Amino acid sequence: MRACSIYDSDMILRILKSVNRAFPFLVLFGYIGAFLLAFICIFSFPLGALVLVIGSVLSLAFVVFLGETLSGIEGILTRRALKKNRCPACRMGPIQKNTDFHQCLACGARFQFDGAQILQDEQELQPTPLGTKLISAD
Ligand SMILES: [Zn+2]
Repeated sequence: MRACSIYDSDMILRILKSVNRAFPFLVLFGYIGAFLLAFICIFSFPLGALVLVIGSVLSLAFVVFLGETLSGIEGILTRRALKKNRCPACRMGPIQKNTDFHQCLACGARFQFDGAQILQDEQELQPTPLGTKLISAD
């Protein structure tokens, strides 16, 4: 058995990122499909509609748990990559460690300490260290 190299964890992280991005939409379409099936069942097989509604409500806890677990694993792998001075977004580096976030110097992606990536529009809302200096100098 060979050891898990950094390239393996990079690939897992990339797959996990795309799964986590698609997961909410998969869940949404799954529930829309269940709703349509239940709607059809109302007229033909009312017990089936009841089972689908109860099953959907009960499966919600499992779906939320699965989503949280997947994003938690992504956070762990992202933090591990940041610790190894590798950017999880572009797989380059180096990573600059600021007081409230990590920033990749190659692509400019920012990451919170829990591993979540700060999106571009959130980045614009956050004041940069230079911006806070300009405000406080006034
Ligand atoms: Zn990067």
